[in-house]
Amino acid sequence: MQRRRILITGGAGFLGSHLCERLISEGHDVICLDNFFTGVKDNIRHLLDHNRFELVRHDVTFPVYLEVDRIYNLACPASPVHYQYNAVKTIKTSVMGAINILGLAKRVRARVLQASTSEVYGDPSVHPQREDYWGNVNPVGIRSCYDEGKRVAETLFFDYHRMNGVDIRVMRIFNTYGPRMRPDDGRVVSNFIVQALRGEDITLFGDGSQTRSFCYVDDLIEGMVRLMRCEDCIGPVNIGNPGEFTIRELAEKVIEITGSTSKLVYRPLPSDDPRQRQPDITLAREMLGWEPGVKLEEGLVKTIEYFREFIKQ
Ligand code: NAD
Ligand code: UDP
Ligand code: UDP
Repeated sequence: MQRRRILITGGAGFLGSHLCERLISEGHDVICLDNFFTGVKDNIRHLLDHNRFELVRHDVTFPVYLEVDRIYNLACPASPVHYQYNAVKTIKTSVMGAINILGLAKRVRARVLQASTSEVYGDPSVHPQREDYWGNVNPVGIRSCYDEGKRVAETLFFDYHRMNGVDIRVMRIFNTYGPRMRPDDGRVVSNFIVQALRGEDITLFGDGSQTRSFCYVDDLIEGMVRLMRCEDCIGPVNIGNPGEFTIRELAEKVIEITGSTSKLVYRPLPSDDPRQRQPDITLAREMLGWEPGVKLEEGLVKTIEYFREFIKQ
């Protein structure tokens, strides 16, 4: 395999740190760029002394000049709590970040992968979601800064591809979980695990009948790396686990595995919360020979182990 010089924006975050680790272990040079909004140094501390690893503190809404041949653009808060904290900053990160990273890719002729999202489908009226479904997104709601930001980023990727021949890959990531999510991240898997381990009430938003499909981080990273390597796969490509669960089922599984005494409590459903979500991964199977291998129970056990240790510290 050819040794590459790889930039990972958002590299100190949950997914980014796993990707840094994977690419370092394969012998590549990795530049991790992050402004530490939701990412932390602890996620990549074990890589800091590595001679093929570099850390750059930078915000992707500002231009960046580096010489690389592969770019994974992951910089953007992903949890609703974090992306709604400063909605204007979130959309700037997606849009201005995409412009700068595409400008960089164009100048140095790097291949660039965009971490897009199942949120481009909004509250989907087609189920499961295939890549040719255009989505059902509210342009003016509290989730729009993220959803529309990611949609514009996809548009920019395709326009830079058509106009400037930039070598793009667009990956639509469905809910992913695993070690290195922050305990205060606000997303459902980490919330429920931390609540269960602390014996606190488990907060179900709405009646808990909405569904999500949860992918374990190792499977996701494998899909991401395969998409980057695929020669003629610009995408968009769904990467996620088609196993679909209600949020109540997720809570029950977490309680069962942790043996917690926590009770389920109901909280108001935030507006525009998608009712259901499940990826159709036919394209990823055919193009990348990829499919997830880790079942929800198995992934939860590993994630719960991580949080048990983390909470003790
Ligand atoms: P995360 O919040 O852990 O990671 C995001 C990283 O980006 C953090 O390290 C953060 O500090 C950094 N960042 C944010 N704004 C930045 C900016 N302006 N400049 C530089 N760095 C910035 O989230 P994650 O789950 O690791 O998500 C990574 C990417 O994958 C995001 O783009 C997200 O939208 C996408 N994604 C994730 C999921 C998922 O379920 N985890 C699903 C769909 C899409
Ligand atoms: N850019 C960057 N790094 C580079 C090249 C470009 O950050 O190595 C930024 C540049 O500042 C510009 C954006 O990317 O704002 C888009 O670049 P492009 O060349 O497409 O646009 P132009 O410079 O013509 O506006
Ligand atoms: N959710 C919940 N309790 C929580 C956090 C989230 O019931 O403590 C619900 C949320 O309303 C949504 C689902 O779990 O229906 C997934 O939420 P998350 O924030 O993880 O991701 P997204 O909504 O972006 O898929």
